[in-house]
Amino acid sequence: MRDNDFMQQWPAFRAWLQENGCQILEPTNPYEVVRFTTPDGIGIVYRKEGGRISKMTGCSQSLFWAWKEGRKFEFAMRTPREKRRDKKRDQLIQKIAKRDGWSCMFCGNTLDRETATIEHIVALASRGMEHIANMTLACEDCNKQVGHMSARQKFEHALKRRRGE
Ligand SMILES: [Zn+2]
Repeated sequence: MRDNDFMQQWPAFRAWLQENGCQILEPTNPYEVVRFTTPDGIGIVYRKEGGRISKMTGCSQSLFWAWKEGRKFEFAMRTPREKRRDKKRDQLIQKIAKRDGWSCMFCGNTLDRETATIEHIVALASRGMEHIANMTLACEDCNKQVGHMSARQKFEHALKRRRGE
């Protein structure tokens, strides 16, 4: 989605959020398009250089699509089960970061709790373990790029990225 497309829709989306008790906050850095409170935490929409929307965190994405599709606000909120899953994921990310540091294994970019994704070194599809020993942190872009690679290809890819190739 282009930044412009989102920004055109933002006034109507914002009105809907406010009607449902959300508060609109000021973005805290140039990569944030919008930031707002919800009953489920802070929702943030990020853009990359060039204006493309790169990430919608928290429940901002589900709320945005609920609004677009004319669904009710309540139905866009996460279920308790999803919240538990998110909490577990967040704890796991923090554990990995404590071991490896807050950076993407591939490009070396700094990550935080919102931008980090869990990368399985040996993919689950290749019988990789669902265990922290088989996990590392990656940014969303790199995670997508290496999805189909073998463990060895991933290490080679990481070395290349670090050398700037
Ligand atoms: Zn990366």
